Amino acid sequence: MTEADFGVRDQRGDWRPEPIDPAPVFVWPLRPLDALKWFFGWPGYLWPWNAIYLAIAILTWAFLTPSLAAMQTLEVWWVAAILARNTGLIILVAGGWHLRLYVQKAQGTAYKYSNRWLDRDNTAFLFNNQTLDNIFWTLASAVPIWTAFEVLSLWAMANGVIPTVTFESHPVYFVVLILLIPLFRELHFYLIHRLIHWPPLYRTVHYLHHKNVNVGPWSGMAMHPVEHVLYFSGVLIHWILPSHPIHVIFHLQHLAFAPAKGHSGFERVVVKDDKAIGTGSYFHQLHHKHFECNYGNDIIHLDKWFGTFHDGSKEAEKKMNERFLAAQRRARASKAG
Ligand SMILES: [Zn+2]
Ligand SMILES: [Zn+2]
Repeated sequence: MTEADFGVRDQRGDWRPEPIDPAPVFVWPLRPLDALKWFFGWPGYLWPWNAIYLAIAILTWAFLTPSLAAMQTLEVWWVAAILARNTGLIILVAGGWHLRLYVQKAQGTAYKYSNRWLDRDNTAFLFNNQTLDNIFWTLASAVPIWTAFEVLSLWAMANGVIPTVTFESHPVYFVVLILLIPLFRELHFYLIHRLIHWPPLYRTVHYLHHKNVNVGPWSGMAMHPVEHVLYFSGVLIHWILPSHPIHVIFHLQHLAFAPAKGHSGFERVVVKDDKAIGTGSYFHQLHHKHFECNYGNDIIHLDKWFGTFHDGSKEAEKKMNERFLAAQRRARASKAG
């Protein structure tokens, strides 16, 4: 199998996969068999990515987090330990994707959406270098803000400020809550993403993430600090719903790690000879290309319901352009009126 089996490369050298077919859940009429296959199948909701993120979260809680008793008082040593651990983990995850796809160029441009590599001489970016700019915003802003949410949440759990549960006392609830976290993330992200596309916030905050039209793994967390605060605030759901530290750690790591894959710039990663596994997010790639479509993701069909879905097809492109023209006409009419 090659990229030609999964999509087409146009004359400009950009590659696009088949139009996006969103997850067969939240659809009417219901498609229970397809939904089950999507949930348990490979690749699907659980396997491999959410299972991998969950395994990392469990290991993090077991081996790389102080005990709740130790976290009852805010002390520099354990806050610094969590900051260092989060820095190390994001370097492993985003750096790992970047190393394989952009430094080693292990598969060249096969399955790469854009035929361009990342910018090295562009004054729009800090240090005129897209990768260094993206790494800077990730390490200087994303990691400290992620760590602050984690430290406060774990401290609040250790002191009984927020409600907690254990696996032993409520195993079914414990597992269901884990399974709902990626879905909740999608809903929360959609809401804050619509908010920061409001022109005053776009111009001052979200523009920073959108400097990355052609994205790489480190672009995922390259955001303005205000966007990081909004983005990681989803974890505050655990201040209301009884949770365990594993829920908090999984939620925050999912927020921090998943965008590295989602912004890899590649639809598939070649693992062996002609075998490639799906890793990319063409859905979000189209958001970076066109700005005003696909604000959410492809499990909950929010963009479909609100008329901003772009599946990558010519028809969707036409519909999006008509939407732009109609909005321009409305703006002109309201000015004239
Ligand atoms: Zn993005
Ligand atoms: Zn955006």
